[in-house]
Amino acid sequence: MSERDQCVPCSGFPCPGTVTVVGAGLAGSEAAFTAAKLGCHVDLWEMRPDVMTPAHHTGDPAELVCSNSLGNDDPQKAAGILKAELRRVGSLLIQAADATRVPAGQALAVDRKKFSQHVGRELEGNPLISWHKGEVTDIDTGKPTVLATGPLTSNRLAQKIRELIGDDFLYFFDAASPIVTAESLDLEIIYAASRRMPGRDDYLNCPLDRDEYLRFREELIKAEPAPVKDFERGRFYEGCLPIEELALRGVDTMRFGPLKPVGLPDPRTGREPHAVVQLRREDREGSLYSMVGFQTRLKWGEQKRVFSMIPGLGGAGFVRYGVMHRNIYVNAPLCLRPTLQLKKFPNVLLAGQVTGVEGYVECIATGWLAGLNASLIGKGMEPLELPTECALGALPASITAGNPKNFQPVNINLGLLLAGVEKVKDKRRRNKEISQRSAESLEKFIAENGKCFMQQPSWR
Ligand SMILES: Cc1cc2nc3c(=O)[nH]c(=O)nc-3n(C[C@H](O)[C@H](O)[C@H](O)COP(=O)(O)OP(=O)(O)OC[C@H]3O[C@@H](n4cnc5c(N)ncnc54)[C@H](O)[C@@H]3O)c2cc1C
Repeated sequence: MSERDQCVPCSGFPCPGTVTVVGAGLAGSEAAFTAAKLGCHVDLWEMRPDVMTPAHHTGDPAELVCSNSLGNDDPQKAAGILKAELRRVGSLLIQAADATRVPAGQALAVDRKKFSQHVGRELEGNPLISWHKGEVTDIDTGKPTVLATGPLTSNRLAQKIRELIGDDFLYFFDAASPIVTAESLDLEIIYAASRRMPGRDDYLNCPLDRDEYLRFREELIKAEPAPVKDFERGRFYEGCLPIEELALRGVDTMRFGPLKPVGLPDPRTGREPHAVVQLRREDREGSLYSMVGFQTRLKWGEQKRVFSMIPGLGGAGFVRYGVMHRNIYVNAPLCLRPTLQLKKFPNVLLAGQVTGVEGYVECIATGWLAGLNASLIGKGMEPLELPTECALGALPASITAGNPKNFQPVNINLGLLLAGVEKVKDKRRRNKEISQRSAESLEKFIAENGKCFMQQPSWR
């Protein structure tokens, strides 16, 4: 018997072996938890805080680098369907998000510090997970390994991954929004209201009349951005454009985007303002607020100057300014299977943003799948592809079946779940049908693959 066959956590049961997970971000934390839950020993590597990325601020696991919102939680919207499925399969990170939720209308927003602490407690307290601190610079392709090192993978490891996939990374720019202190806000001007949820005060709103809006836009366009290299100019992700880029696209583009006033009447006038800047609570106490949709690459001094023109933010105290970073991801249609295994090295799986999915919950979902499949490889079983009728299967299917000539990062969206759904005019009915169908297909899949989901007997 090997040492691992006799190990204490396995309590005499055959030991399924060890899975290595690199990166304790969103995807890696979920992958490590899932593989351990299914009975594997997990070596979890994280380089922070010794080696930091340009976007992280702490050494905590599952740090949210920008917004504290994990997106819509309505079970009839694509993002809500994905969350519902992750709840069903016992995702640690969605459990942590539910436990540390802050009011944010239909969005699942969290207290970011408590969220990371919750994840950290679960991982550190798990007898099957061994934490290793340090930067990983090499990959053992002979053992089940999940690479979940994110869009800001360290350079040395990125070079190794490049060698494995035999191709360069694709990239785009993503930016983070500023955070301000509640005590610095002018509540004589700012009012509380939630879109589509009358009577709820989850968001604070800064109203702009037409002249204020036009002056603000003009200054935003003129403001000085942080420098980028010429060849990198303009490669933004359409789903997360910097606010100054939106301003450039047209006079009203911001008003139809993050500054949309619809459903947010000012209680003092009873009318919707010309535009509204929304602030979302960062913690349950409401001591910090983030500026919704204000990801930016302006120089910090310019952010203070221009954002202070927003009514109610004249004296705003900025605890964090917006920043922009180059996000790398692989050309998934060329190098990945829907199981998230590398085509050339099937013991190595990718998870998170580096696979070409975009968004916190999408990263968590691929972390869960990679953790499941790495555990199956560890047990000598075949990795699984999930049905494309459910969001957990549609997402990896869509990245791996994309067009490699023009592969763009993918968010979960209803379009991925539409195949075979009858065309009807009533979208609510259609969405309900999609939501039901995804839940049923996941249940069927779990029932058919029961033995793959068998948990370690000593699991709490
Ligand atoms: C600036 C920015 C803002 C973003 N804002 C949002 C947003 O508001 N909403 C949203 O939904 N998504 C956002 N994203 C996209 C994406 O959802 C997040 O980046 C998300 O954290 C990615 O999850 P992940 O698990 O793939 O990577 P991460 O959460 O970044 O985790 C990767 C981990 O790997 C570690 N690591 C890297 N290299 C090594 C190594 N060699 N050895 C050991 N450890 C290593 C890192 O330290 C990190 O902890 C943003 C991305 C960026 C860069």
